[in-house]
Amino acid sequence: MSDDLHDLYQDIILDHNKRPRHYGALADYTHTAEGYNPICGDKLTIFLVLNGDHIEAVQFESACCAICKSSASMMTEVLTGKTLAEAETAFKRVADLLSTELNLEADLSVDGEIAALAGVRKFAARIKCATLPWHAYFAALKG
Ligand code: ZN
Repeated sequence: MSDDLHDLYQDIILDHNKRPRHYGALADYTHTAEGYNPICGDKLTIFLVLNGDHIEAVQFESACCAICKSSASMMTEVLTGKTLAEAETAFKRVADLLSTELNLEADLSVDGEIAALAGVRKFAARIKCATLPWHAYFAALKG
């Protein structure tokens, strides 16, 4: 990864950390779950409004590190308006981008801002920070 690309990814993560999207508890949620990552101390609660297999709204609250918070913020943007199947596909892509075995090239024009998560895999201990919001999402679906 070039230094320029690395800086760009860094900027995206810092921006979402500073101004998290869809932040705050949802009063009328249909599903919720808490996630906890003991390695870093990240805590996060996710709130979903599902209508059939359609995700109408996603919000979160967190007391977590910048990577966790920005990953959660990006996730809410990705999931809003998606079907459950599309959400599953989006998670698969995030997991692949974070995989040190696959070591995939991310592409901002294809992946959107979640491409920035590819920069996280250099820091193995932080990968769980980035996946915590998604695990909380799946936990919320299961109830
Ligand atoms: Zn963390």
